[in-house]
Amino acid sequence: MSEWTTIVGLEVHAEMLTATKMFSACPVVDSVAAAPNTAVDPVSLGLPGTLPVINQQALEYGMMVALALHCDIPPYNQFARKNYFYPDLPKGYQISQYERPLAVNGYLDIELEDGSSKRIVVRRAHMEEDTGKLTHVSDGSLVDYNRAGVPLLEIVSEPDIRSSAEAEAYARKLRAILQYLGVNHGDMSRGVLRFEANVSVMHKDDTAFRTRTEIKNLNSIRSMVRAIDAEVARQIKLYEKGDRVIQATLGWDEAAGKIIIQRYKERPDEYRYFPEPDLPIVEVSREWVARVQAALPELPDARRARYVQHLGLTAYDARVLTLEKPVAVFYERLLAEGVNAKSAANWLTGAFFSLLNEHKWDREQIDTAPVSAAHLAGLIKLVEAGTLNHQTAARKVLPEMWQTGQTAADIVQAQGLAQVTDSALIAEKVFNALFGSIMKSLKGGGRPDVVKQVLLEKLDALK
Ligand code: ADP
Ligand code: MG
Repeated sequence: MSEWTTIVGLEVHAEMLTATKMFSACPVVDSVAAAPNTAVDPVSLGLPGTLPVINQQALEYGMMVALALHCDIPPYNQFARKNYFYPDLPKGYQISQYERPLAVNGYLDIELEDGSSKRIVVRRAHMEEDTGKLTHVSDGSLVDYNRAGVPLLEIVSEPDIRSSAEAEAYARKLRAILQYLGVNHGDMSRGVLRFEANVSVMHKDDTAFRTRTEIKNLNSIRSMVRAIDAEVARQIKLYEKGDRVIQATLGWDEAAGKIIIQRYKERPDEYRYFPEPDLPIVEVSREWVARVQAALPELPDARRARYVQHLGLTAYDARVLTLEKPVAVFYERLLAEGVNAKSAANWLTGAFFSLLNEHKWDREQIDTAPVSAAHLAGLIKLVEAGTLNHQTAARKVLPEMWQTGQTAADIVQAQGLAQVTDSALIAEKVFNALFGSIMKSLKGGGRPDVVKQVLLEKLDALK
């Protein structure tokens, strides 16, 4: 047992993918696909004389997430100016929320690999606007304001997370909830969902938390896990040498697998927050909350329970199949194709996931895999009909389907892989095999007609 415990609190920024920005009618576009600075307007550029208007849909999306996280929604929330200068922030301040956030005091239940579950408290969730995006090139930096003003929900957990595995479970579950709600597609490589990990360690004799550091710019869940592990190791090493950990903002170099110290934070940041004078206080009526609550779609926990109770899946399979929405959608397509629920689960979590792993294909992208749900269903049906044995199907036909894009039926036919089910043909093969083996044991001395006669009599007697 180590003397040290990992302490993590996560801050998550999730863009709310509304049609328009947080404070204007400027469209929200895919920040990777769209040409830079094509989705901008005077409000998102922060031009003098412009006035923000609150996007009600964005607030409602934020409320959906907050309710899915069991938060309380206070009757009033209020925007505030967070003042700082940075080239991706043209106004010189970000409109955020401070003293009166949209939501407080929720929780997220995570499931761990050993089957146990744990509750992580969500301290608050508040609405704000995203900043622009900077790209550093050899002779300067480029700024793209397409992302400036995109609605952003910041979700802050308590430091309840005790390992990188728990952080991973929290991140995956939260991403699944956003996907199920349809407010964010969860593609971290496109920057729509960003995690920041606050990390400290606690010695077994400690009675209070120690200094934390904050790791930013984590662009995949895998990076987050690696970064937390590296930072925990770094902190323990410092303490064991008799040094101290200095509060700092850190980055993560994925290629080098290293923590980078970006800046030390000896004093807290001073943002000179004050209530945003250009926006009214938002009143959230109880009717509105009830309406949003009633319209929430089926969420991962409910779907997982349904798979166990109504489809008879194991708790493990139900969890794996519901944790990424695209996987759940793929699974339900197999069911819609008429595949039995349990064999669909076995095939998907077994042979199909192995194939995805082998090709380093992200499960999030399962819907664009070379083998579609309809094609996989076709394969499973051939096995269930007895045309193909399981092993040939999983080890030979499925990989070929992946390579060629052909259906299972085409491959089976082209390569003569079908199992023989014609009983007359099988009986003939059995007879010939027995006959041959008797002749062989008589070392060529048996009279074929007599052997044949005796064999037929004996087989007849078995009927
Ligand atoms: P603030 O941003 O107001 O300073 P906190 O410092 O309390 O708020 O928390 C910011 C984030 O850091 C939260 O996600 C919280 O869970 C996390 N956090 C706070 N203390 C620690 C700690 N000792 N170790 C790890 N995470 C922490
Ligand atoms: Mg903070």
